[in-house]
Amino acid sequence: MVEDRVVFWGTGDAMGVPRVYCECEVCQEARDTGVNRRLRSLVSVEGEFGRFLIDCGPDWRVQMEAQKIRTVDTILVTHAHFDHIGGLPEWADQCRWTGMQGILYAPGEVLDAIIDRYPWLERNIELRKVEPDLVLGGWSIFSWRVNHGKNGYSYAYRLKKDNFCWVYCSDSIGLSDNELAPMKNTDLLILGTSFVQEDAPYETRSVYDMREAAELLPKINPARTVYTHMSHDVDLNKLPDLPIAVSTARTGMIERLTR
Ligand SMILES: [Zn+2]
Ligand SMILES: [Zn+2]
Repeated sequence: MVEDRVVFWGTGDAMGVPRVYCECEVCQEARDTGVNRRLRSLVSVEGEFGRFLIDCGPDWRVQMEAQKIRTVDTILVTHAHFDHIGGLPEWADQCRWTGMQGILYAPGEVLDAIIDRYPWLERNIELRKVEPDLVLGGWSIFSWRVNHGKNGYSYAYRLKKDNFCWVYCSDSIGLSDNELAPMKNTDLLILGTSFVQEDAPYETRSVYDMREAAELLPKINPARTVYTHMSHDVDLNKLPDLPIAVSTARTGMIERLTR
C-alpha cells in the first residue's frame, strides 16, 4: 500500500531560480551545481488513489518530464497568476491528444480569471468550482481567500483525511486572525516564503519572508512546516537558523502525509 504523500515538483517564486538576467551568487550556483535551481511552485498529492496537482505553472511540462509522468487528470488551482496557471495550455493539449477529460478545481473568482485568460480551455478541461464538500483522493478539501499583498488575493487549501490535516498556502502575507484560523494546529503547513528577509516597503510586497514566518508559526502551531515559493534571495547552502520543525522544500522532496 502506498502511503499518501506530497511531492514538491517546484519550489520557486514567480520568476524561478536562476532568473535569466541575474548573475547573483544563488543564480550562479543554480546554473553550476543546482542546489538552488527552482522551478515554479507546484506540488503533487499522491497515494493509492492516484494523484492530483496543486497549481500548474509555466514549468508544468518540464516537471512532468522530470517525474516521467505522461498524464494528469485533476488539478487544483490557488490563484490565477502566471506562475500558478501558465502551464494550463499545455495541460489542455495533453487532455486533447490523449482524449482524457481534465478537471480543474478552483474557487469561483479564480475560475473566472482563468476563463478570461484562456477562453478556449473548456474545450478540453472541465472547470469546477471548489465547493465545501469537495473530496479528492479521500482528502476533504477546504479553501479560503488569503491576502496576497500588492498582488491582491490568493487561496489556501486545507486537506483532511482520517486524523491528518495539512495546509498548502504558497502566496500570502500579513494574514489576519480570520485568515490564519483554518491553519491552526495542523500536522503540516506548507507556506510560501519568497525571501529570507525582504527589505522592500511592505505595501510593495506580496509573500511572507522567513523572518515573518518565524514570528507567525507560534501563533498557528503547526506540528511541522515546510517553506516553499522561494526566490533567488534564498540560498539553501546558507540558510539562516530556522525555527524547530521547519524545513525548506527542495525539488523532488517528499513529505509523508502521516503523523
Ligand atoms: Zn506565486
Ligand atoms: Zn539571482
